[in-house]
This record gives sequence, C-alpha cells and structure tokens, in this order.
Amino acid sequence: MGKIDILSLTADKLSEFVQSIGEPKFRSTQIFDWLHNKRVKSFDEMTNLSKALRVKLDEAAFIPSISVMKRQKSSDGTVKFLYAFADGNCIETVAMFYKHGMSVCVSSQVGCRMGCRFCASTQNGLVRNLSASEILLEVYETERQIGERADSLVLMGIGEPLDNYCNVCDFYDIITDSRGYALSRRSVSLSTCGLCDRIDELAELKLPLTLSISLHAATDEKRSEIMPINKRYSIERLMDSCKKYFAETGRRISFEYAVISGVNDSQQDADEIYGLLKGMTAHVNLIPVNPAANRNFTATREQAQSFCDKLTAKGINATIRRTLGNDISAACGQLRRDTVSEKQ
Ligand code: SF4
Repeated sequence: MGKIDILSLTADKLSEFVQSIGEPKFRSTQIFDWLHNKRVKSFDEMTNLSKALRVKLDEAAFIPSISVMKRQKSSDGTVKFLYAFADGNCIETVAMFYKHGMSVCVSSQVGCRMGCRFCASTQNGLVRNLSASEILLEVYETERQIGERADSLVLMGIGEPLDNYCNVCDFYDIITDSRGYALSRRSVSLSTCGLCDRIDELAELKLPLTLSISLHAATDEKRSEIMPINKRYSIERLMDSCKKYFAETGRRISFEYAVISGVNDSQQDADEIYGLLKGMTAHVNLIPVNPAANRNFTATREQAQSFCDKLTAKGINATIRRTLGNDISAACGQLRRDTVSEKQ
C-alpha cells in the first residue's frame, strides 16, 4: 500500500489515521498543528512527538511539497505564480490585493476537460485532479511568498472545482478549520461552469460558500456553442440548481459573464438574462473577454460597460469586474499553457 498524503486529511480523517497506526487520538491535534500552523516539511521537525512515532509516521505517510517555477508581478500589484508539484505538473495561483486584504485565486485541477471555447486552461484537456493538500499548498506558499495572510479565496483558477468534488470539499474543510488556517467559512467563493448534480449535492451540505456560475450566454443555443457543458445541463436545469442552492444556503448567487463583442452583448441578450434572473437574489459580474484562448473573441471595456448599462436599465444587479494583472498573462491558464508549449 502506498503512503498516505497526510496534509490532505481533514481533522476527522487525521484522527482516524492516527488511531489506525495504534496511537492515541490526541496525537492528531498535535500533528494537525504542525502541518497547518507551523507548516513543517518533515516529520522530524515535529519535536513534541517521540522519535519512534516520527519514524512510524514517516513509514506510513508523506508531506507533499510545492515549488515556485515563475513569479510575475503586474503594475497593479497582482502577483501570479506558476507552481510545480512533485510529479512536475504545474498550475497557476494569483494573489490579488483589495482594500479588505489579499484574495488568492487557486487552481483545482491540472488542465480542465470542460472545453469552454474562451478559456486557455482547457486547450490540452485534463491531466489530473489536484489533491486537497496541493490546493492548500497554493495558499500556504502564496502567503509565504507575499508575507501576508489570505483574507479570502476564490476557486476560480485552472480546472472545474466541482469536477474534483471530494478533494475540494476536504480542502474547504481544512482551510476553514479553526484549529488550522481558520479562514472564515464565508470568505470562500467557488466558480463552476454548471455541474448541476454537484451543485445540488453542495446545496445539501448547507455551507456558507459563495457560488459563482459561469453563465456567459442566456439561451441554450448560444451557451451550448461556447460551453459544451450546456449540452448536458440546460440553462433551465442550471437555474433550478441555483434556486435550490439559494433556498438551502441563503447565499446570493453570482453569475460570471464574459462579454464577447457581437456574440452575447446585444439588447436581446440583456432581455434574455432579465428573463432568467428576475425574482432571484443574484449579481452579474461582467468582464470583457480575454482573447488569449480565442482570437475571434474580443471586447473592449467600453463594450462591456454598454452591456452593463443594458442590464442595469432592466433592474439587474450588474457590475464590471475590476480586471487585475492585465499585463502578466492574466487569462486563466495562459501562463501554464505558454510554459508547457515552451517546453515542447
Ligand atoms: S472556464 Fe473553467 S470550466 Fe470552462 S474550460 Fe476554463 S477552467 Fe474549465
């Protein structure tokens, strides 16, 4: 049997593991502290455990690591990291700075299999899921690099988080554990292209997690063209899941909409969005599409503003998201894609 990735274990799972190797339960509290507060890189550093226990842990488990391959800083202060894991696979993490503090955007998979046509992350498909520990290491290493604690997190980097559901749930459990990083449970947002069965499962957990839906078009015809997932879950099905999520959690849903000039920014598109969202507690986040993945898709900030005006005129709560890091391969997946193709 292979060694256990100990950093991926939630406090409950760590307690079970510790007991399974014949140790008393309270040892797991000490080990959790070493891993998630002191952030040690080896069992040998866990100096309040006996030498025999440290050897036993080393035989049964391992502590994964992460390394920085590239670091880019934008003129607006945004910092983007290309991180590599032990198997050589790399992902991106972005640190963004707001008045309220640092927000870290983490990746959840190496690549993505969802095939959205405007996205650079999906161009070479899915390589593998990230473990809970690898997502945690993105946060821990970014804090170490920047010298500042993350105030909020967004699961909006490379990958579809709900396609890696169990690991993402364990990550959320660990990062919000009051005995560890203790991030506020309300300070995490998860962005999904709309895996409805998983949204329904998540709703039943009644977590205070903000759900952000990548909508990008308001009719099935248009959405299926740019987001293949829409062929599996129609917009009507997606809206049912959103309503269920709101009913179970009371959390306002956020809809992401990449404005693509001439594709999804007409008055009719605004009318369709109104038809979908009326009566819902929702917010629409607009962003001019980044042409990195598809040169035919473009939009200026003015075009995004004009579409925003069309929505707000109908009473829809819409804003244009501040675009950060425009000068540093800012589109999700772009830095990794460029690095992977440099190597080939
Ligand atoms: S937008 Fe998100 S879900 Fe769609 S391909 Fe990119 S990473 Fe995957």
